[in-house]
Amino acid sequence: MIDVDSAIEAFRREVESIPGIDPAYLEDWFRRHKQTALAVIQRTISGQQAMNADRVVTLNCGLGRDSVTMLLLLLEGQLVVGGRVLNVTEVDAVVFSDTGWEWRHSYAVLFKVREMCRRVGLRVIVLAKPGEGTWEAWAGNKVRGVRRRSAPPWLRADGWASIEDKAAEGGYHRRPGILEDYQSRSTVVSISKGDCSSNHKIEPIRRLILDLARERFGVPDNATWGRLVRKGERRPHVSLIGIAADEVERTIGHKGLSYVTEFYPLIEMGIAKGDEQPILERHGLGWVRKSGCMMCPYQPPSWYWLLRESEPGIWKAVVEYEHIALTLNPRMYLTGRKPIAEVVDDWRAKNPDLTIEEVLGEGYDRCNKWAA
Ligand code: SF4
Repeated sequence: MIDVDSAIEAFRREVESIPGIDPAYLEDWFRRHKQTALAVIQRTISGQQAMNADRVVTLNCGLGRDSVTMLLLLLEGQLVVGGRVLNVTEVDAVVFSDTGWEWRHSYAVLFKVREMCRRVGLRVIVLAKPGEGTWEAWAGNKVRGVRRRSAPPWLRADGWASIEDKAAEGGYHRRPGILEDYQSRSTVVSISKGDCSSNHKIEPIRRLILDLARERFGVPDNATWGRLVRKGERRPHVSLIGIAADEVERTIGHKGLSYVTEFYPLIEMGIAKGDEQPILERHGLGWVRKSGCMMCPYQPPSWYWLLRESEPGIWKAVVEYEHIALTLNPRMYLTGRKPIAEVVDDWRAKNPDLTIEEVLGEGYDRCNKWAA
């Protein structure tokens, strides 16, 4: 027999334990959470299966405004996925795949995300890049003209004790930091190619899904899971992707895989970019900005100016990264048809009064969806 009152009281305690929530907001928050409690209880009574009962569910969190909004709605008990309210217990892990060159403001969000998830027992897995020095050995193969080894030097032949250890030591990545990766090939990330997010975001997360499925179900690889799905013996794993309802076009053209399918809860809930700020603010996260790599070609000149002003050391590295590519191919500009330093100078001459905060607040239109 389910004790509804105890279940509701447990939800109330959960809400009250979250730090930094405005007390005036608390009662309203509880009211919504109570509804979720009832939804979960109802699901239990009707025998409805948890979404991750027989598969892995991950929430892909790129630490930008869309994915953090999606996470907050999950924590509030308001996230609707596939026509039902999803409970935090139905998500195996919140995942952030680090390209190694994310903006400092995104890494700052990670601290808050970890803290909020810890309080509700939600696993956060950060797929870090390998430590300094390891990638140089990787690049050294090329410098010496030797064919690159299939296994990067940071992968341990004897494996890792846990998924968390593997994630912390770069075990889910097959390439070094995104800038080093492209620089070692004397090229830059190019718009529309998509290989940057595939190599540095999508593939690492899929490797993690495989390990999570192994951990829970003992299935040896994603291909096997896909075969079982095609035979009707398994359901595909689920990746929750944060794309705002007014950016539906970012979902177009993505091919699903047999072993993992994607859900876009913000689109399902009709939450557009403009709806995100109040959700972020009620958790003290109104300052969350657009996420992405610091040398992303989708960035407008204003964001490169931001880089020059706020991260001079990284700006220098980015200018050098473009310079190396231009040496090999004189048209390999980071963005536009001029070296990035000139692009920034031109932009600043036309916008002499814009401040760092104003540029940060503007964000920019798009980036590959998995990096959102
Ligand atoms: S943020 Fe830009 S450079 Fe980084 S993975 Fe996404 S599209 Fe590629």
